[in-house]
Amino acid sequence: MMTYYNIHSHFPSHHSDEVTILNWIIRKKEEEEKGEKKAGFLSVGIHPWYIEDVAIQIKQLRDLAALPEVVAIGEAGLDRLIDTHIDIQQEIFVLQAHLAEELQKPFIIHCVKAWEELIVVKKQIKPKTAWIIHGFRGKPDLAEQLIHQGFHLSFGTYFNPGSLQIAYPDHIFAETDDKDSSVRIVYSQMASVLNITEEELGKQIQKNVKILFSI
Ligand SMILES: [Zn+2]
Repeated sequence: MMTYYNIHSHFPSHHSDEVTILNWIIRKKEEEEKGEKKAGFLSVGIHPWYIEDVAIQIKQLRDLAALPEVVAIGEAGLDRLIDTHIDIQQEIFVLQAHLAEELQKPFIIHCVKAWEELIVVKKQIKPKTAWIIHGFRGKPDLAEQLIHQGFHLSFGTYFNPGSLQIAYPDHIFAETDDKDSSVRIVYSQMASVLNITEEELGKQIQKNVKILFSI
């Protein structure tokens, strides 16, 4: 029986054969959330949409990041469509990138219209840990450029088929993000675009997951 891997979700698994990395966004009002039981694998990070009280958020992130169930740092990112100044976003992003590097945990990235900045930061940091762009919907030429720069791409419900073909086989992951649905749907879309069976796709994604994550 195959295992389905969902590397970025805001909801728990839908089936027992799905392994999900549940994303936990560090907010200022973390106290309320602390009581909430989070089971399974987690990724923790400060999302660019929720840069609130940075000192408090960073402290909380540092406290959580080293826990064994936290298997990735992020999502963290750069987003040109929000009001927060890009320099502030970049500062928080770089800080989290260094934390991922320090802990040698993969780094999950949210990037909207800030590709040049993202590539520059990666060249400066020269990370040894994996940088994975989640929810990638970009065009094939961007996919090509990012893979050339050593990024991995995670695909959700909407993606550019040509970009998936470029990232396949070694740089692909699957996710559901903010959709409360099974990752099987994404697997079936990906398999049909790639013209392979779901089992073949499953083996490849499992291989990619095992290389980068301790899950
Ligand atoms: Zn997300």
